[in-house]
Amino acid sequence: MGTRFGMKRDPRYDVLFEPVKIGPVTAPNRFYQVPHASGMTNALPRVRAAFRETKAEGGWGVICTGACSTDPSSDDSPLPFATMWDTNDIRAHAMMTEAVHRHGSLAGVELWHGGASVMNRTSRIPPLSPSGIPWMATHVGFMGNARPKTMDKSDIRDVLRWQAEGARKSRTAGFDIVYVYAGMGYLGYEFLLPEYNHRTDEYGGSLENRVRFVRELLDVTRDAVGKDCGVALRISLEELRGRPGRHQPSEAHEVIELLADYADLFDVKMDSSPTDCSASRFTGEGSHEPVIDFVKSLTKKPVVGVGRFTSPDTMVSQIRRGVLDLIGGARPSIADPFLPVKIKEGRHDEIRECIGCNICISSWHDGVPVRCTQNPTAGEEWRRGWHPERVDAAKKPGKVLIVGGGPAGLECALTLGRRGHEVTLADKGTSFGGRLTFETRLPGLSTWNRVAEYRLGRLNEMTNVSMYLESDIGVDEIIDLAPDHVVLATGARWTRMLYSSMEIPVGELDHPRVYTPDDIAAGRLPEGPTLVFDFDNYYMGGVLTEYLAQQGNEVTYVTPAGQASAWTIMTNELPLVHRALARRNVRVTTLHMLTAFDGAMATLTHLFTGETFRIKCRSVLVVGLRMPRNELFEALTARSEDVSAAGIKSIRRIGDGLAPGAIAHAVHSGHTCAQELGGRQYAPYRRDTPIVDAEPEFKSRAAAE
Ligand code: ADP
Ligand code: SF4
Repeated sequence: MGTRFGMKRDPRYDVLFEPVKIGPVTAPNRFYQVPHASGMTNALPRVRAAFRETKAEGGWGVICTGACSTDPSSDDSPLPFATMWDTNDIRAHAMMTEAVHRHGSLAGVELWHGGASVMNRTSRIPPLSPSGIPWMATHVGFMGNARPKTMDKSDIRDVLRWQAEGARKSRTAGFDIVYVYAGMGYLGYEFLLPEYNHRTDEYGGSLENRVRFVRELLDVTRDAVGKDCGVALRISLEELRGRPGRHQPSEAHEVIELLADYADLFDVKMDSSPTDCSASRFTGEGSHEPVIDFVKSLTKKPVVGVGRFTSPDTMVSQIRRGVLDLIGGARPSIADPFLPVKIKEGRHDEIRECIGCNICISSWHDGVPVRCTQNPTAGEEWRRGWHPERVDAAKKPGKVLIVGGGPAGLECALTLGRRGHEVTLADKGTSFGGRLTFETRLPGLSTWNRVAEYRLGRLNEMTNVSMYLESDIGVDEIIDLAPDHVVLATGARWTRMLYSSMEIPVGELDHPRVYTPDDIAAGRLPEGPTLVFDFDNYYMGGVLTEYLAQQGNEVTYVTPAGQASAWTIMTNELPLVHRALARRNVRVTTLHMLTAFDGAMATLTHLFTGETFRIKCRSVLVVGLRMPRNELFEALTARSEDVSAAGIKSIRRIGDGLAPGAIAHAVHSGHTCAQELGGRQYAPYRRDTPIVDAEPEFKSRAAAE
């Protein structure tokens, strides 16, 4: 592979490799993996340790956990949160800190109490809050919300005690940095905002009073571990920045001023997942700056922040301009755990840049370990033994033909090439990228092209990979080429299938003015007014609606789901999709199925009541079911004798040609195939288990009093 260790880094980037003192500990450089959800609970300690270790190996100077609950009264289930409750938890986390320390990096723990934002579904303890106000976010899984309990003084003392105990357990587990969390609607944050905090005691009212609880959390943490560990404050500043202060421009300024000396590190961020971890479709790199830019002017302590930083020039500029001291990364560290090493070695073009698709955060909402579109090895380090930069050489290098150069084919070619196979990659299109060649031209999706660009850049450096465009490959060509292995990455096509009241796809809609996304991709645009019928429910229906509306087409968007692009709630995009459609004057009709179309009128039927109404439209675009392009596979199967005679040992389908899905799945499928070629496809993986070194503890709360 194209590693050029001889290359020197540009001295311009030296500043990124300076150590930074965080209280009693020192970060070896400015690359700071801020706390981020990994979906790896304490039940997956080895998966988690290996996931975090890979980033330390890749040069991140600080590696943090995700939210780590200090007490069962902070229980986010079914979301996959971490805990610091007992001895087994300490052991589970110690695996991670040891792994991180092996590479000379610091380990940080984000101690967390969710307050009113958690439902305590498993622990069944009433959620705690400053004043009994629940958190009702447009987010996943917050229904059936119990109204939280108003905390009395003894509850406040309890939370402070749990924080201190959590800090001591964290130190025992080997952490170097211990967090106090006052962000994202969680308990500390709820005390800061008067909407949540109606208290009339010393914890409510004036800003000084509202800050008191957070300051006490910092105090107890420092008392518990401050000599050995850096104490970090993670705080959301978006809402506070919008509120005028009494003697400072905003309450955010005043909060930082009041706490300036209480933390060793300020980790500053936005208030809710959709703005904090915003998708590239709607937000660019460095989007937090207007909210957090002032913090360094009010404290001498180091400041870390994020903003999907992938360009070393942007990072240097953040430091030079005095915005940040440490370059925070969550998504960029998932997409490329080796980003710091690559900058250090001047290998910038090898950076696997995050595309901002937010499939990673969808994994958290799905309650599973993190998945990444760009980095198929994320979460697979331990259980499948994969590494983002290294792959085992093939025991028997062979000739492999890959048909189709979309995300699946490109990833498969790259990984097979790295393993030393002789690879031929052919695509019938005029450029590589498959579905991306069209989709990245749609509103907001250009960044996604990095999936193809990163792989094409690496493939072009490989001498054992030959790439052919405008090559429509059929059975005869395959038999003539007689490779050892054939990989079919031929993608999927959109169908004209409709949707039934049983909520499954049914019968095709037959009319000359019924279109699919494939028609739009081929440049066949519908005559308006157009009705977009979307039951794919991810980005495609919404983004094509925007695209058509942008071109002056009058569009109505209809979906049987409850919201437009309903699944984008998982990727933090949903509120912004609705905003984008509203801006383009698109009429959105939810809970309706398209049931008939005659070229002038469409009939819509309510999913639950069966009531119908008609709407005028000249064309219909169905964004519904995708089916694999299977013709080549079927033709090869039909000629199995000729295939064997040609010496072809295996034929595999990958990506959308096997099971249509999101790009992340296609990339993962391509990678899996390359790792397992010659063996069993989707071989079993190692299964992690919780650590139960200690007999589970039981100390009843009543007994503790
Ligand atoms: P995936 O997401 O699984 O990678 P895509 O639809 O993005 O799938 O890419 C499939 C690619 O396969 C497209 O670029 C298409 O042009 C190509 N392709 C499909 N059938 C053939 C074929 N018979 N010969 C060559 N290329 C093909
Ligand atoms: Fe970035 Fe997408 Fe990977 Fe998340 S899943 S790290 S947003 S590329």
